[in-house]
Amino acid sequence: MSNVVVVGSFNVDHVWRCEVLPAPGATIAGRYSTGPGGKGFNQAVAARRAGADTTFVCALGDDAGGAMARGLAAQDGFTLTAEACSEPTGTGGIYVDARGRNTIVIGPGANAALSIGFVQGQQALLAAAKVVLVQLESPVDTIEAALGLAREAGVITVLNAAPADAPSSISLLKLADVITPNETEFAALLNRHVGERIDPNDVAALDGASLHALCRKLVGSGTVVVTLGAVGVFVSHDEDTLRGDAQPYYRIGAEQVQAIDTTGAGDAFNGALVASIAHSPDAPFARHVRFANQFAGRSTEKEGAAVAMPHFTPDDQPA
Ligand code: ADP
Repeated sequence: MSNVVVVGSFNVDHVWRCEVLPAPGATIAGRYSTGPGGKGFNQAVAARRAGADTTFVCALGDDAGGAMARGLAAQDGFTLTAEACSEPTGTGGIYVDARGRNTIVIGPGANAALSIGFVQGQQALLAAAKVVLVQLESPVDTIEAALGLAREAGVITVLNAAPADAPSSISLLKLADVITPNETEFAALLNRHVGERIDPNDVAALDGASLHALCRKLVGSGTVVVTLGAVGVFVSHDEDTLRGDAQPYYRIGAEQVQAIDTTGAGDAFNGALVASIAHSPDAPFARHVRFANQFAGRSTEKEGAAVAMPHFTPDDQPA
């Protein structure tokens, strides 16, 4: 049985690397590449390469994109369980300029059709997992159903509340033992659910006590892990559930790496975090965060998202 189950999206990404982003009406030349994407798929690849026995639950069209997902999952050695959809497989159109800034259009396609019924059909799989990881690129009620089934079975649940503009609800947040927003997603959740307005650019500079207080406003009892890009990570626990840690809140600095492409760094972090939890559920939570931070740092040293995930497991982690 799988240690980690990831429920989420798969996209075929079409990427154009250009000098500048095209203006409305412009036609420009760029270097084209195509490959797998979607937060769910990226996170499943990361979990697998971080050593977890992984199953990825998703929705695919009956087309070349669907075949790509199945082929790559087999190549990476994880199980893919897909709802067959009449919609085309999800796609992403991505322009990246010379400064690394991007403009993205997503065609959700089959991802938007992942149904509650299909996820309910995976009840035994979800209940047998050590950790279930979800994001918000699939219908919110389907994600809520997956978290609910895992929760009912006493499985650890992790919600990567991404992307920032996806619908979410307090009831969804309550079903997660751990939520893992980046700064932008954290600010969006605070604004949406507790009416707290904060500029995402100010999050990393807040002192620990203030950040902790904001995390506690957002979720009563869950753990919040705010990823801070090149700054690292901030962790906030409920004082009654420290998950083996000595302190209710702390920061861990980012790895010193030669970052050349941070696309998918958050996905790397999430996949590695759940793989580490599944590997040693009773270890202090800070150990899982340190491992995920190392894994995500290494993922930035190569171009791309899924293809840039390192092969690095908790057993390889220096003590
Ligand atoms: P997202 O990709 O969702 O925006 P972040 O940018 O917060 O997520 O990155 C996630 C994690 O990846 C960070 O918490 C850190 O561990 C790692 N990371 C990202 N950028 C860098 C970097 N430049 N150097 C080292 N680690 C990084």
